[in-house]
Amino acid sequence: MNIILLGPPGAGKGTQAALLVKKYGIPQISTGDMLRAAVQAQSPMGIEAKKHMNAGGLVPDNVVIGIVRERLGEDDCQDGFILDGFPRTGPQADSLKQVLAELGKTLDSVISLQVDTDALVVRLTGRRTCTDCGKGFHLQFDPPAEDGKCSSCGGELMQRDDDTEATIRNRMKVYQQQTAPLEDYYRKEGLLVVVDGMGDISTVKQTILAALQDC
Ligand code: ADP
Ligand code: ADP
Ligand code: ZN
Repeated sequence: MNIILLGPPGAGKGTQAALLVKKYGIPQISTGDMLRAAVQAQSPMGIEAKKHMNAGGLVPDNVVIGIVRERLGEDDCQDGFILDGFPRTGPQADSLKQVLAELGKTLDSVISLQVDTDALVVRLTGRRTCTDCGKGFHLQFDPPAEDGKCSSCGGELMQRDDDTEATIRNRMKVYQQQTAPLEDYYRKEGLLVVVDGMGDISTVKQTILAALQDC
C-alpha cells in the first residue's frame, strides 16, 4: 500500500500516519520529522532547513526531494509506505512520480484531510511532541496520562518551535498557495480521496481505513 497523506498543518497527518503504521506495518515517511532530525544534528542541511522551518516557509524542493528519493529506496519501503507532509509543491509531486517510476512503484491513494482553519489553529497550539520517541499528543484532544510526560516512553513533551501563532498563519498561507493545488493534481490522476478530518482521532481513522479498502 503506497499512500500519501495530504492536508494543511495540524490536519492530523502525523497522527493518522502513526495509526496506519500500526495497522499495515509499513513505514511513515515524514519529511518534517526527517528535517527536524537534521536540524537537531546541526548538519549543514539542517542549519539551512531551520531558517525556512522557523519562518513557516518551505525548505527548497531539491533538498526535500533528495531526502525522499533516498528514503523510498530503502528496504522497509518494499511493501509500502505512508508519505506524511510530502509532496508539498508541484515540482515535488513531479519528482515523486519520477522516483516511483524508477523504483517500479505506483501510488495507491492520496488521502486529503479536510479541517477548518479555526480547528487547525486549536490543534497546532495544543500540540505536544515527545522529545524521545516523537509521539504526538494534544493538551485537550489527546492528553498524556501524566502532565508533560509521554504515555508511551516516559520522555519529556515539548512544543515545536514553529507552532506559534505567527508562524502558523504563514504555514497556512503557504499551504493554500503551494500545496492545495496538489488536490487537483491527484484528482486528475484518479487517486484523490477527500476525507472529513473534523471528527475525533478514531472517527477519522475509521474513515481512512474504509477509503483504503476500496483501493
Ligand atoms: P499534522 O501532522 O497534519 O500537522 P498532527 O497529526 O500533528 O497534524 O495533529 C496536530 C495536533 O492535533 C496534534 O496535537 C494531534 O494530537 C491533534 N489531532 C490530530 N488529529 C485530531 C483529531 N481528529 N481531533 C482532534 N485533535 C487531533
Ligand atoms: P505540519 O505537521 O505542520 O504539517 P511538518 O512537520 O510536516 O509540519 O513540517 C514542518 C516544516 O518542515 C514545514 O513548515 C516546512 O518548513 C518543512 N517541510 C516539511 N515537509 C516539507 C516539504 N515536503 N517541502 C518543503 N518543506 C517541508
Ligand atoms: Zn515518547
